[in-house]
Amino acid sequence: MNGRRFLSIGECMVELSQAGDGLLRKGFAGDTFNTAWYARACLGADWSVDYFTALGDDAMSDEMAAFIAEAGIGTSLIRRIKGRTPGLYMINLKNGERSFSYWRDSSAARSLAADPDHLREAVEAADVIYFSGITLAILPQEDAATLLAEIRRAKAVGKLVVFDPNIRPRLWSSYDVMHTTISEGARSSVLVMPSFDDEAAHFGDDSIEATVHRYRALGALNVVVKNGADGVTLNFAGEETFVPAEKVEKVVDTTSAGDSFNGAFLARYLDSEDAPAAARFAAGVAARVVSEHGALVPREKLGLSGG
Ligand code: ADP
Repeated sequence: MNGRRFLSIGECMVELSQAGDGLLRKGFAGDTFNTAWYARACLGADWSVDYFTALGDDAMSDEMAAFIAEAGIGTSLIRRIKGRTPGLYMINLKNGERSFSYWRDSSAARSLAADPDHLREAVEAADVIYFSGITLAILPQEDAATLLAEIRRAKAVGKLVVFDPNIRPRLWSSYDVMHTTISEGARSSVLVMPSFDDEAAHFGDDSIEATVHRYRALGALNVVVKNGADGVTLNFAGEETFVPAEKVEKVVDTTSAGDSFNGAFLARYLDSEDAPAAARFAAGVAARVVSEHGALVPREKLGLSGG
């Protein structure tokens, strides 16, 4: 089949990291964008990858859009909002420990679902739709409901809807809203790709099985539970498989390990429909990502063969 479309929905931010001597280095990153980046790097030319977000009309928004386009990711669906700017975060380093400061409360991306017709057109044109708990967390509650309604329509007509709960409590107004909305995100999806640490901490799951069963009981047919260096557990239509992580000599930076795993997994799964093989491939890509600095490791360093 030719010309299939992968749509990732969420927020990409300006990233500032320490470059020594008090200097800061500027980059661009964000969970759903990172996954789009790795999906693009791993998918063949018969797939297009589009990013769905909202940006402002300032120079930084232009620069981010150019960066996204340069990665081979479509930007034609990105709404531009007058007078707004992208969100920003800074990676602080103190005694080797990383911490993050965010300026995203009024980012343009918070309005990404404010035009329901535009959102509907984008979702209808896609074959695969990817979103996360962060996508839902940044939206006003009524816009999150609009997005979820579109996602459910997509699921109902047989599209592959993929959700990473990516639980970030401080983005949510309350635990209650977080639990309800993330559960709704999973219920609206076909494939859920959680990280076990987050699920144990915030949903109280005492085992990987508990995470798998909770999401399957909500209505997700397939679940991939990531568990860092301890590998992933897949449950596809009830059939369970474990795939170990790859051994990494020296872990340098685990930023976007899960995002890269998701992007690589989906790229391979979309072409082969072989979930365990896709997970083995993704474990290889994620192992390379944690061996390098930064969220976005260039394609040349991912050990992919072929064009
Ligand atoms: P998240 O970043 O969402 O918390 P994980 O930490 O579970 O996700 O990591 C996602 C994937 O990245 C794992 O399934 C594994 O393939 C790879 N990975 C993460 N940490 C390591 C590690 N220390 N060694 C090898 N692979 C790792």
